[in-house]
Parts: sequence; structure tokens; C-alpha cells
Amino acid sequence: MKCSKKLLIGTLLLTALLVNMASPASAYQYNGRYWHQGYAQYTKDSSIPSSWSTPLASAANTWNNAGTNFFFYQISCNNKLYYKLLGDISILAVTHEVYSGDSMLSCTVDFNKDFGALWSTSGEQYHYDVQNVATHEFGHWLSLGDLYTSADTEKTMYYTISLGETKKRTLHSDDIAGIQSIY
Ligand SMILES: [Zn+2]
Repeated sequence: MKCSKKLLIGTLLLTALLVNMASPASAYQYNGRYWHQGYAQYTKDSSIPSSWSTPLASAANTWNNAGTNFFFYQISCNNKLYYKLLGDISILAVTHEVYSGDSMLSCTVDFNKDFGALWSTSGEQYHYDVQNVATHEFGHWLSLGDLYTSADTEKTMYYTISLGETKKRTLHSDDIAGIQSIY
């Protein structure tokens, strides 16, 4: 009888420990790479519509203002943003990473031209907002991964994007915790 009571307490403690361990892991997903120089250069390919310049810069600046020493800056370089036909309407945009060990070497983003007139820079209804999507993709440049649970829906790194959505333009406290844990 006494033994079984002890066992029960032991089980409860273990459960509490597992819950505590699980909660920081779900706040953000860090995939382990970072820009060793502490900044990432990026540039727009000529395929990017000129009206996208301001929303793209705003997306980068959102991460620049997250209270770390990391900085995205625009300069002629190989880390390009492209607007191209991907032939796949299940993908709105994709970040391609080149890394070696824990060192992020290069990133590019393809914004899917298959969506054509569905792209918008003003957050209008029934359209995909450029800044909303770009802020999420720049999160991937930081090696932050997609989040999938119902607790993550308000975060910039949540994996899906809805028509008319603009909430990913602004970082959630957990997205900020993510970049702050790296830089
Ligand atoms: Zn993603």
C-alpha cells in the first residue's frame, strides 16, 4: 500500500517534468544553423515587381527590430528573392538554404508566380499579402522552422497562410524568443 502510493507520486512528478520540457520546445523551432557573421545580405532579382520593394524591406526590418544584433541588409549579392512560376499551387513561397554544419551560407526565396493576381501588397481580402509571406520566409533564413500546432496559429512561423491574412507581418513573442535565442 505504501509502495503503491510512492509509485503514484513518482509518476506524477515525471508527468510534470515532461510537460515543462515540452513547452519551450513548442514556442519556436530552431533548426540549428546561423549566420556566423551576424548578418544576412539579400537582394531582389529583376523578376520581383517594383511595388514589392517596400513590403519586402518591411519584412526584413521586422526581424531587424526584434532586439538582437542580427541584421538583414539589402545589397547586391547572391541571396536573391525571385518571383517565378513554380508549377505547384500548393506552395506560396519557398526558401532554399545552403549551409555547412551550423553555418548558414546562402538563402534564396522563390515567390510563386502561379498565384499571379492573387498577390497583393495591401493586405486586401482574397489575396496573399507579400509582406505577410516575406516575414515568414525571412524567418526560415534565420533557421526557424515551420510550426504546426493549434497553439501556434498566431505566430509568424505558423506553416500556413490564409487569404487576406496580415498577422504574420508582426512577430509573436515566441518568434522574437526564437531569434533572440540564436543571436
Ligand atoms: Zn514556412
